[in-house]
Amino acid sequence: MNLAQSLTSTLENVEPYIKILLLEDQPKTVSLFEELLSTELDIELIHLYDPSKLFSEILRINPTVILIHLAIPGVDIPELIRKIKGAPITYNIPIIVFCEENDPALRLEAFYAGAIDYISHKPEKVELVSKLRYHALQYLRQSQAIAELQQLRQKQAKLKRITLALKELSYLDPLTNIYNRRRFDEVLRIEWRRQCRTKRNLSLIMLDIDLFKSYNDIYGHQAGDKCIITVAQAIKKSTKRAGDLVARYGGEEFVVLLPDTTITGAFVVAERIRNKIKSLNIKHKGNNKGIVTISGGVATIVPKKYTEPEELIFIADKALYYAKQNGRDQICKVNIYKDLTSLKR
Ligand code: GH3
Ligand code: MG
Ligand code: MG
Repeated sequence: MNLAQSLTSTLENVEPYIKILLLEDQPKTVSLFEELLSTELDIELIHLYDPSKLFSEILRINPTVILIHLAIPGVDIPELIRKIKGAPITYNIPIIVFCEENDPALRLEAFYAGAIDYISHKPEKVELVSKLRYHALQYLRQSQAIAELQQLRQKQAKLKRITLALKELSYLDPLTNIYNRRRFDEVLRIEWRRQCRTKRNLSLIMLDIDLFKSYNDIYGHQAGDKCIITVAQAIKKSTKRAGDLVARYGGEEFVVLLPDTTITGAFVVAERIRNKIKSLNIKHKGNNKGIVTISGGVATIVPKKYTEPEELIFIADKALYYAKQNGRDQICKVNIYKDLTSLKR
């Protein structure tokens, strides 16, 4: 391909990116504008004679600039401009008006309606081209900025969704798929502060599978893992209220946090869990009951200012210790106000 051919091909491939929609009833003016713009390869002129089709043509063509003859007989041009400026998808498109008569009142009305500029009906090429280019570029930049902003907002929303999903994932224990200790610690602190304000009961159940070390020894670590998963799901299904939280505290230990629950209520939940685990009937030769059993400690407190949630954990743990000492497969509850002094270190 020689230089001339290459140049021709380049010129032919120039995509017009400024689309001018011209509303004009005078063929003479249309021809004039066509001639003035004929050398501007990036400008495409589309003319329209019928004002009633203006709005639908704008939607179809998506012009960069609209050029309107202000004095088409029988047509309320300012009203047409108001319609374009009033629609959310077209309000941004710049409208330039022109008129053969110098009618300042009509021109003013067009500006009030939303026209952005005015040219004479027989403009100099430089006037026409520079005004079209100026307004077209402003519009394209603005549209691009809006599109970029929308994209940015979409990306931000996606990022927010991913962050939330990751956060939720970081709260889960990978083996059992129930909440982990990190989530428990976080919720315990939140509930502690809340119950402090409302002066209501906060109950905690600590659960521990009985003789689990021997379960692993007899059936193997993998079977042990399976047993932990089954027990975790059973505990999770045993709580009913939306605010209750079940978490794996570590190893074969679980916690159940019950806001707004009295010690009697929490004890009932703990007993329900213990019986549910027994009803699973998981064989365990190392346990004298012949099946997997669980022990639990229950503690209830009305949190007070300047106290720490660890107090509740400490007491529930003590209660669990008593359940173990007392022969396992049982729940022991501690009434903090009665038994606290004897329990404290
Ligand atoms: P107790 O009735 O007094 O609770 O006796 P125990 O044998 O259950 O108590 P201990 O705390 O001595 O043993 C807990 C065992 O749980 C020890 C450990 O090997 C096992 N374990 C902890 N985490 C896991 C786990 O993720 N998978 C399996 N398979 N075993 C675990
Ligand atoms: Mg243990
Ligand atoms: Mg145990």
